[in-house]
Amino acid sequence: MLPWENLKEMSLPDLETLCWRCWGSGVVPIEDHGQMVECPDCEGLGWIPTEDGRKLLEFVQRHLGITGEDEESKPIP
Ligand SMILES: [Zn+2]
Repeated sequence: MLPWENLKEMSLPDLETLCWRCWGSGVVPIEDHGQMVECPDCEGLGWIPTEDGRKLLEFVQRHLGITGEDEESKPIP
């Protein structure tokens, strides 16, 4: 059974919320320019993980050996 099979049983709205700034589009307009840029709040995903979602992300990353950009990928001084 794939790990994702269990996710179907979980309630996704509890894991993520629609980004209030871009409303799921992942992009927001720059003021004065009319250009669209990646939404800073959701990093272009359109969705923001909730507390439970973050826990799941951390769990998956830990067990898949994926390291976050902020911490463990930094070179050791
Ligand atoms: Zn957004």
